[in-house]
Amino acid sequence: MAGDRVRERRTVETMIGMYCRGNHGTSAGLCAECAELRDYAFSRIETCPRRDGRVRCTGCGVHCYNPVMRGRIIAVMRYSGPRMVLHPIMAARHFLP
Ligand SMILES: [Zn+2]
Repeated sequence: MAGDRVRERRTVETMIGMYCRGNHGTSAGLCAECAELRDYAFSRIETCPRRDGRVRCTGCGVHCYNPVMRGRIIAVMRYSGPRMVLHPIMAARHFLP
């Protein structure tokens, strides 16, 4: 399910990018804090025990994030989740099976 992991990485990166632009004022790329979060999220995706492609990290019951990073990614999801609907390409990916 490498394709699903690639898609999940893109989704996470897009959501963190939206959050960073909206909350940290970065115009391109990510600030150091958000880059750290993205790298952490990527490493979680790589080591996910439930990588069958049917469960996204955001809907997964396995809490593999440490508490600090989990707090940060939840803030990102809360901010960027509703905005993903307005992002045509990513929104289509987000809601298609
Ligand atoms: Zn940031």
